[in-house]
Amino acid sequence: MALGKPMAVKNSSNPAKISPVAASPSDDEKRALGWAHTARFRTTASQLDQLPQTELPEIAFVGRSNAGKSTAINTLTQQKRLAFASKTPGRTQHINLFDLGPKLAADALFADLPGYGYAAVARGAKLRWQQVMADYLAVRRSLVGLVLMIDSRLGFTELDHRLLSFVAPRVGNGSVKLLVLLTKSDKLNRTEASAALAQAQAVLGALATDEADVGVSLFSALKKSGVGDAARVLYGWVHP
Ligand code: GDP
Repeated sequence: MALGKPMAVKNSSNPAKISPVAASPSDDEKRALGWAHTARFRTTASQLDQLPQTELPEIAFVGRSNAGKSTAINTLTQQKRLAFASKTPGRTQHINLFDLGPKLAADALFADLPGYGYAAVARGAKLRWQQVMADYLAVRRSLVGLVLMIDSRLGFTELDHRLLSFVAPRVGNGSVKLLVLLTKSDKLNRTEASAALAQAQAVLGALATDEADVGVSLFSALKKSGVGDAARVLYGWVHP
């Protein structure tokens, strides 16, 4: 059984099957990883109105601080320091945008959104962040997909639920797709990994509609598991 494979979440009474991962990377996976590798920094913004208005499909990465978001972005793009800017003091509350695709013909953007839930952040800053995040998820027209990083040992916290509630209408009507990566899965044994997947599927079942496109996958940057599958999902979102 290959637990790294992203599973579609249809509804909780109809758990998706877990199909085996191919022994060697498929052409699809190579193409998707090659595309992800083209990611390069475009711009940073501390407010929504500073984001460029673009027609390019945008995929946003979100998660609690320390969930493994920067590591996941670096692993997916096979670049050591791409998401490093987001960690620079003073930049932690910024939205960082990356171009993907051919050099002179970008075909998508990744948006690295500020991590949330960091205890040391003052209440005012937290509330401000929450508003920026809620607005971004509600109004960013070019947003086509959301990748939510959840620490596989912690599961969904209250802030993760709140984030999902911000985007639930757009996930429900199918205009924004959702992939949940259960990060640091190398720290779990098989039983724990199955339990983490089951918990995530139960949470995400609440978002399931006929239009919704929701997936969940175990992910380990350390073991490089779930990486090719996640890349394929993201590639598919912008190259339907
Ligand atoms: P962020 O705050 O969400 O961007 O989280 P980071 O990417 O900085 O990761 C937080 C911590 O988790 C760091 O100490 C990482 O080394 C660790 N981490 C991230 N991904 C993995 C993983 O796949 N396996 C393990 N064991 N640790 C990881």
